[in-house]
Amino acid sequence: MKLLSNFAASSHQIADLHLFRDADARVAAALLAACPVMAAEAGEIVSDTSRPRLTIVLRGSLAVQPDARDGAAAGSVKIMAGESAGEQSVLDDEADLSCLVALEPCELLLIGADLAWRLIEESDGVARNLLRLLSFRVRAANVQLRKRQKLGEFYRQLSMNDGLTGLYNRAWLDDVLPRMIATAHAGNALPSSVPAPLSIIMIDLDRFKQFNDRHGHVQGDQALRTAAQVLSSALRPTDCAVRYGGEELMVLLPETSRAEAAAVAQRLCERMRHAVVFADMRLPLPHVTASFGVATLLPGQDGPALIVTADAALYRAKAAGRDRIDVDDGRALAAQAA
Ligand code: GH3
Ligand code: MG
Ligand code: MG
Repeated sequence: MKLLSNFAASSHQIADLHLFRDADARVAAALLAACPVMAAEAGEIVSDTSRPRLTIVLRGSLAVQPDARDGAAAGSVKIMAGESAGEQSVLDDEADLSCLVALEPCELLLIGADLAWRLIEESDGVARNLLRLLSFRVRAANVQLRKRQKLGEFYRQLSMNDGLTGLYNRAWLDDVLPRMIATAHAGNALPSSVPAPLSIIMIDLDRFKQFNDRHGHVQGDQALRTAAQVLSSALRPTDCAVRYGGEELMVLLPETSRAEAAAVAQRLCERMRHAVVFADMRLPLPHVTASFGVATLLPGQDGPALIVTADAALYRAKAAGRDRIDVDDGRALAAQAA
């Protein structure tokens, strides 16, 4: 930056500076008279990170880039002629770590922290303007924060849901299933508690490779979406449908006994058989069917073991001709324990 003159010798008017609006101009003029007016080139960094100071833009504009320490990705804020930067650093006596960059050739009035405090103490108008400005900045920061929170929630959702079907994805399952199992075991452990069984249904679309080969992958995707829709529209709010992988889906049924889970699987199997896969209104695609393997959590069982059990039931449903359900009877584990 290059020194042009002091404020008294410059052609700038106090009335044009937002911080001095409705303030006593004579008091302010006397205090500002000796302050340096500096010229900055476009692109020049004009902040002083070693001590607090107020920077008022007399001509041109500045960009305030956020604090480099917290890696904030927020965009920069533009400071126009008449506006100021660095107020907070003066008030809390901390150097301003944000970076001020001249966006064009600028003239800047620099006010050291001591003088800024004298302005506040001797001019009610300056103090009032400063409070207004800070209140405005707090509000703007809160809006930013809420936006970021919403965005964070959006991305969290995105990372937990499968893009094609909208069902929960495998990452979600890996996170949630162990907790569901712990809850179910804890419920069962209480002496007088109602048992809290957890059942799962593994689902695999039948001869789906053939469907893809005959109708193409795009229609295959449509059939997968339809299958997902069948699940999500038929479940209770506490049940969850997951895309386990490829054309394998899974349903989690908390507090659901083996018999109830078998009934749910039967209902899903029938609905799947009748669901219409519309690629084109004039040319509905053939129905897809699926096979279902039902398993209910047994004492001491963990997530992987429960999935293996449901998978075995699913395999039996496939072997028995597909488009049907098979329910694990829980005997395998009992036999293992014996
Ligand atoms: P089965 O009745 O024994 O399950 O036969 P299948 O043909 O369904 O079994 P296989 O595992 O051989 O084939 C699964 C097929 O699912 C193969 C794969 O192309 C298809 N598939 C997996 N994921 C997707 C997907 O996201 N979109 C489409 N269109 N197809 C998929
Ligand atoms: Mg499969
Ligand atoms: Mg299959």
